[in-house]
Amino acid sequence: MAKPSKKSALSERESNPGSPTINPASRQKIKAFRKKEIEVEELIHRLLKGDKTALGRAITLVESQQPDHLAKAEKVVEACLPHAHQSVRIGITGVPGVGKSTFIEAFGSYLVGKGKKVAVLAVDPSSTVSHGSILGDKTRMEKLVTLENAFIRPSPSGESLGGVAQKTRESIILCEAAGFDVLLIETVGVGQSETTVHSMTDFFLLLKLAGAGDELQGIKRGIIEMADAIVINKADGENQKAAREARLEFKRALHLYPPKQSGWRPKVLLSSAIENTGIPEIWELIEEFTGLTKGNNYFEHNRHEQNKFWLLQTINEHLKSRFYRHPEMKKALQKQLQAIENNETSPFAAAAFLLKKYDEL
Ligand code: GDP
Repeated sequence: MAKPSKKSALSERESNPGSPTINPASRQKIKAFRKKEIEVEELIHRLLKGDKTALGRAITLVESQQPDHLAKAEKVVEACLPHAHQSVRIGITGVPGVGKSTFIEAFGSYLVGKGKKVAVLAVDPSSTVSHGSILGDKTRMEKLVTLENAFIRPSPSGESLGGVAQKTRESIILCEAAGFDVLLIETVGVGQSETTVHSMTDFFLLLKLAGAGDELQGIKRGIIEMADAIVINKADGENQKAAREARLEFKRALHLYPPKQSGWRPKVLLSSAIENTGIPEIWELIEEFTGLTKGNNYFEHNRHEQNKFWLLQTINEHLKSRFYRHPEMKKALQKQLQAIENNETSPFAAAAFLLKKYDEL
C-alpha cells in the first residue's frame, strides 16, 4: 500500500482542520510520523555538533535490524555524508593477547593529548561463529573511554561478516560527521575480517609479538601485503632483544614483496604500551604516509575505489538479506533443503527454482 505522502497529509489537515474524514487512528499515525521526523532531525543536529550521546544513538539506529529504524538510519547517514570531516582511518589487527586494547588506549590517549578527536570502532565477526565476542567481552580502554575527545564503540553483532562490516562502515561516516578525525578500527583477525577492515581504512597496522625467531611462520597469508606498518609490541623488559631481532626479520621479509600501489614502503617499528615507548613514532609514520599518499593522490584514489567496492557490497548484502528474510523464501528454502536430503533434486535445480520463485514474488 502506498504511504500517504507527508505533504498530502499535512495539506489535508491544514485545509480542513478537525475534518471528520480523517479518522482518529490516521491522525494518531500522522502525529507519530511527524514526531519521528522531528526526532531524527534533532538527532542529526546534535550529532553534527559533536554530541557523543547523539552519535551513540545514531549508531544504534544504523545497527538496528528493525525495519522502521532502517529508513531513519538511511536519513541520518545521508545527512552526515556531506559533513564527514578530513580524517584518517587506521585499521589495527593482531591476535588476541598481542596487546591491541592496551595499545589503542595508549595511542588514542596520546592523540587526544595532541588535540585530535579519536573514535575507536571494532569489527569482530567472532560473534557470528561462537555467539560470544572476542573483542567485546572484557573491560577495555578504561582511561580512553573517560576522555571528552574519545569515543569507543564495541563491534556490532551480525549474522555475517558482511553485515557487521556494513554497519561499521556507516558508523565511520557518522563518527567523522561528529568531528572525529582519527578513526581506529580494530579487528581480531577471524576469517576474512582483516581484509574487510583493510577495505575500509587508509592505513593498516599489524601488531605482532616477538617469538622465538620464527616470526613469519603461522602468519596468515596476505596479511603482510596488506600491512603499511608492522609494530612489534611489548618491546619492553626481557622482550627487548627478541623484539629487535623480530624487527630485523620482518624488515628483511618486507623487502621480498613488490612495491605497493600507494608508493609507500611499509615500515617495522617497536612499541611498548606499558612503557609508553614507540607511540609518537607510529603517529609520525602515519603522518608521513598520509603526506605521501595525499601528495601522489593515492589517498583520494583509494577512498574512491573503496567507495565503489562498498556500493557493490551494500547491494550484495541487501539482496541476500531480502532473499533470506522473506517468509515465503524461508519456507521454500527449507523444502528444497529437505528435497536435497531426500535426493529428490540437485543443488543447482533447487537454486534455480528458488531464484525463479523469488523473482515472481
Ligand atoms: P588484546 O587481546 O590484543 O586486546 O590484548 P590486551 O591489550 O588485552 O593485552 C593482553 C595482555 O598483554 C595484558 O595482560 C596486557 O597487560 C599485556 N600487555 C599489553 N601491552 C603490553 C606491553 O606493551 N608490554 C607488556 N609487557 N605487556 C603488555
